[in-house]
Amino acid sequence: MRKLMRSLLPRLAALLGAVLLLAGCAPRSLTRSSAAGRSPLDWPQADSGSRDSSSSDGGKFWDGWDGFWDGSSGSGSPARGTTAEQRRYGSAALLAWPSVLVSVYLDEADGASWDEEAIAESRDTLATAVDWIGEQCARYNVDAHITCDDGSADSGLFYHLTYNGSFAGGTDSAESDDFYTAAYDFCARLDTQELHDRYGTSNVGFLLFLPVDGASFTIVHYMEDGADYYHEFSCLYRYDAYTAPDAAETPAVYAHEILHLFGAPDLYEGSTDYYVTPDLTAYVEETWPEEIMLDTYGPGGSMVYGGIDKEIGPLTAYRLGLCTEFEGMDRFPQVTELPAGAFSARTPSGDVRLPDGAVAARPGA
Ligand SMILES: [Zn+2]
Repeated sequence: MRKLMRSLLPRLAALLGAVLLLAGCAPRSLTRSSAAGRSPLDWPQADSGSRDSSSSDGGKFWDGWDGFWDGSSGSGSPARGTTAEQRRYGSAALLAWPSVLVSVYLDEADGASWDEEAIAESRDTLATAVDWIGEQCARYNVDAHITCDDGSADSGLFYHLTYNGSFAGGTDSAESDDFYTAAYDFCARLDTQELHDRYGTSNVGFLLFLPVDGASFTIVHYMEDGADYYHEFSCLYRYDAYTAPDAAETPAVYAHEILHLFGAPDLYEGSTDYYVTPDLTAYVEETWPEEIMLDTYGPGGSMVYGGIDKEIGPLTAYRLGLCTEFEGMDRFPQVTELPAGAFSARTPSGDVRLPDGAVAARPGA
């Protein structure tokens, strides 16, 4: 069984004041609030990123959403000050550049939550995934520098928050519009100059950990988005919705989703990336069967923990900017059309365009 892992969810295009979304198997209309109203998220004190999950009383939460960002709303322009280069890649940018991953563990207000043990387990999985990505990059003579939450205090890379709502999860993982609105907003708020200064990079990816079972996915920035939808985040569920109950997501899933942040496309059948044709999928399956963007399961659909029995194949490495060519490049020239590390909303049959040339439709999930 192939797990459906979505990377390119349709997102609201900011054009002509109209919204026209085209979704495939999971139609979704994302509406973004332009008002600086309350977020569905309760925020802790700005300096209490290591808040313990047990302290869920309201008094420990920062309760003035509007003031968190100097009274301004990040909804309309989450990428203020970004350069043209950054707007090409999105917040996580390229794997060959130093980057940080911010972990945000989200509890439901009156439901599922993360305890210390579960967070520690997830943190181990993250370490395995990030170490593996580094090893794979070394195969392409690229020295990756990804800094992520390792449990050390005050790293600025760990948050444990309560979401004032619930998560859909399940095999559809159709999370709510409110959730996406909140997710974009808090990524913008956590992407601070202080963080950039501390780690010497403005390349930041976000990992949102949801305490239910689901099909993990990643929201990436499209070149066409410009300064909008700049922040890129993976939603990583605690459990895999496709296997037995209480089967934690594997390091391979974490790595797969993190690689999306840096530009890796899904290579399985049904991928929304315009150049991933059935021909290409068949070629990848035959040429690089262990490719991690093809499948995250072990032999026989098994769940592999403690390591990752996959590889970053040459085509994925090319898209990530780890190498400049791959076997089959002549046969699949569309793979080479976009800059490495970038995504486009274009489709094989051409974009649906509005009169001003703006893209008005997005490929399906
Ligand atoms: Zn994927």
